[in-house]
Amino acid sequence: MRACPKCGGAMSAAKSITVGGLENKEIAWRCQHDQITAELRHPVQYVHIHVGDVDEIDGHRRRLVHKEISGAELVVYHEPLIEKSPAAKPRRAAPRARRAAKPSARGKRPTGRRPGRD
Ligand SMILES: [Zn+2]
Repeated sequence: MRACPKCGGAMSAAKSITVGGLENKEIAWRCQHDQITAELRHPVQYVHIHVGDVDEIDGHRRRLVHKEISGAELVVYHEPLIEKSPAAKPRRAAPRARRAAKPSARGKRPTGRRPGRD
């Protein structure tokens, strides 16, 4: 069982493989509370992996929040980054040639007569 670095809760196995006669070796985990994920990496990557690193998997960005050596293995923890659809809105260049240079011609109201008595 693996503990979530964020909430301390137990993470459940998200993926397991059978390798080298070892059945159902767990290689990935997920926290049910905050969607933190953990996965195994080769320990030699330890120095190349930095907390705060952001990568993208299947269009979903995530940030590395924790890493630890567990036995002979490196475990890295990520939290998903939720973004507000940055690609959704086409960014239009602001109109720069046109400037509202003239003061509004409106706002002139006829003066002189006040309503009321005749
Ligand atoms: Zn958690």
